[in-house]
Amino acid sequence: MKQSAKMKQLELNIEKIAIIGEQKEEENFDFRIFLKGQDFEQVDKIVHRLDKEVRAQIDCEKCGNCCKSLRPCVTDNEIDTLSRIDNLSQHDFENGFVEIDNLEGIKYLKDTPCKYLDDKSCSIYTNRPKDCKSYPHTQKEEFITRTLGMIENYGICPIVFNLFEQLKHELDY
Ligand code: SF4
Ligand code: SF4
Repeated sequence: MKQSAKMKQLELNIEKIAIIGEQKEEENFDFRIFLKGQDFEQVDKIVHRLDKEVRAQIDCEKCGNCCKSLRPCVTDNEIDTLSRIDNLSQHDFENGFVEIDNLEGIKYLKDTPCKYLDDKSCSIYTNRPKDCKSYPHTQKEEFITRTLGMIENYGICPIVFNLFEQLKHELDY
């Protein structure tokens, strides 16, 4: 396993990333199987370094694609905060803007693009849900256990796309 490698040129074009995401779906699932045979801690070290390097070159305020395409999950406390921001009762807010996944019991903001997206920025940035703060979840531990989600986000988020491609490169995949 290499400790470092020259960074590849980043791909930042959202449309191109979406197309490559479809084209490389099979390759990404094969890479997922390959990763399961690697050392978890070593992969986390590389992923966290790559995450910093990739983020340093990407400005989320010029992208906003996650807020256009995905629905963040929200806790009851967050729903309370958002309903206050919108001057609505929690009941009315939930009726209008929240959907529940009954299988998992998880609540989501139901609209895409997100109702709080203002051009490419979040209009409630300091109050955004925890799920938004941690997206695209590349700073968490045990990357190898979360590759399914990474593949789902590969064609949406330039951070995930470039991190995944750079990881393949560094692992000589
Ligand atoms: S709350 Fe803000 S950060 Fe979260 S999806 Fe909506 S616009 Fe994006
Ligand atoms: S987290 Fe990813 S998809 Fe969301 S704004 Fe940043 S680069 Fe774009």
